[in-house]
Amino acid sequence: MPRKPLVALVGRPNVGKSSLFNRLVGERLAVTHEIPGTTRDRLYGMFDWRGIDFRVVDTGGIEVYQAKGTRDSAPLAEGSIDFVAQIKAQALLAVQDADLIIMVVDILAGITAADEEIAEVLRRTNKPVLIAANKADSMKRAENSVEFYGLGIEKVYAISAFHGIGVGDLLDGVVDSLADPQLAADQEEEAPHMKVAIVGRPNVGKSSLLNILIGEERMIVSPIAGTTRDAVDTELTWHGERVTLIDTAGIRRRGKIEPGVEKFSVLRAMNALERADVALLLIDATQGITDQDQHIAGYIQESHRSVVIIVNKWDAVEKDPMTHTNFERRIRHEFNFLPDPPIIFISALTGQRIHEVLEMAHKVWQNRYLRIPTGELNRILREAVANHQPAGKAARLKIKYGTQVAVAPPLFLFHVNDPTLVHFTYRRYLENQIRETYPYEGTPLRLSFREPSKKDDD
Ligand code: GDP
Ligand code: GDP
Repeated sequence: MPRKPLVALVGRPNVGKSSLFNRLVGERLAVTHEIPGTTRDRLYGMFDWRGIDFRVVDTGGIEVYQAKGTRDSAPLAEGSIDFVAQIKAQALLAVQDADLIIMVVDILAGITAADEEIAEVLRRTNKPVLIAANKADSMKRAENSVEFYGLGIEKVYAISAFHGIGVGDLLDGVVDSLADPQLAADQEEEAPHMKVAIVGRPNVGKSSLLNILIGEERMIVSPIAGTTRDAVDTELTWHGERVTLIDTAGIRRRGKIEPGVEKFSVLRAMNALERADVALLLIDATQGITDQDQHIAGYIQESHRSVVIIVNKWDAVEKDPMTHTNFERRIRHEFNFLPDPPIIFISALTGQRIHEVLEMAHKVWQNRYLRIPTGELNRILREAVANHQPAGKAARLKIKYGTQVAVAPPLFLFHVNDPTLVHFTYRRYLENQIRETYPYEGTPLRLSFREPSKKDDD
């Protein structure tokens, strides 16, 4: 699957990053709020422009609090040294991961000292940087955007995230700046081999698992204070096959950056997933299932990756005869949106059941390449329809035939008389019928319903 370019929104609080994020993603997901930098539910979204799919991250959601800070403590006041350090840290993160950076500034405020600091960090990178001079609600205000050329960044666009003015021109600028041969190279297909991302909250045991899988201790320190280097890929040969382990480990709590790091780990997971086929979703058996686990699982589902759920630290759980069954039941319930995921209970500390991890990953990976012959698929389809006719208005639905048109993940195309008659419960029913016959365990199936085109009828 081609990699989608990642655009990072960087800037000091209150300039309109999350407003622009909302404008791009087109959903009211990142709630703007009176207190700068608070209550962003989501840092990460997707949009497309001129036929190119982009990912966008709102780095303003990566928060840094005063030492010993908790979720309730106030963010740092503007002007304090730590405040600037925080934004610089955000800018650095953006630079590491992004293909392109949009620095958002406030046209009403003009250039501030913090803007200059951020611009300095960004200028020193070799990534394309665009300035979005936001809150240009009128032509007169837009004229003031020339001031921002003073930041030493060549491309300045006056926009109003609020009213949607100038955003199209900004996106044209994004596309033009992205004419990057490296990115095109990334999109070229290589011979498929298994790429596994180890994802999960901080402290679930990602680096411990990685280390035991590759059989060596390893720790690389990143340039950002308070974190260890992450998303390091490891190549290994497993039963004679090439395997890439994409590691998101290493983001650790250390004093100051605690709450932000929790959210940031989700972003890390996203980036790892983008390059993976299979996700190992790690859950900490001693902590149970948290919202953050659910968020990460949601991203696995959205990105159509195959998944194995790994319950780690099983050694540290006090067990009775029902513990395993109950835990598994809870997982199936809480992650019911995942595609029939295998679940393994391990200990990265004692090595318990470690050998099953790559075996299972390999199994779900192979499932991505399963093909159902058209005759077989239509037999399943006929039986499914005979056993359970759509009811009510949907009774008019006629499914003519189906065919599998893609693998990794599998995509099935069904020709129907009217796609609007396919209720999602019926879609799910058909998916389950396919899964009953074919072992697509851990792998998502995509079902598409179309009216036959003229060409098909000829
Ligand atoms: P962030 O902290 O950088 O993410 O900024 P927000 O997106 O939360 O916006 C901060 C404030 O600026 C909010 O009160 C927004 O309503 C306001 N704002 C955002 N975009 C615009 C705009 O285009 N014009 C005006 N006048 N206000 C805006
Ligand atoms: P990461 O942040 O997800 O990379 O987590 P780490 O691998 O750094 O592990 C976090 C902590 O959990 C460390 O103190 C590990 O020693 C501990 N840990 C990891 N795996 C296990 C396990 O299977 N059992 C127990 N008891 N502790 C573990």
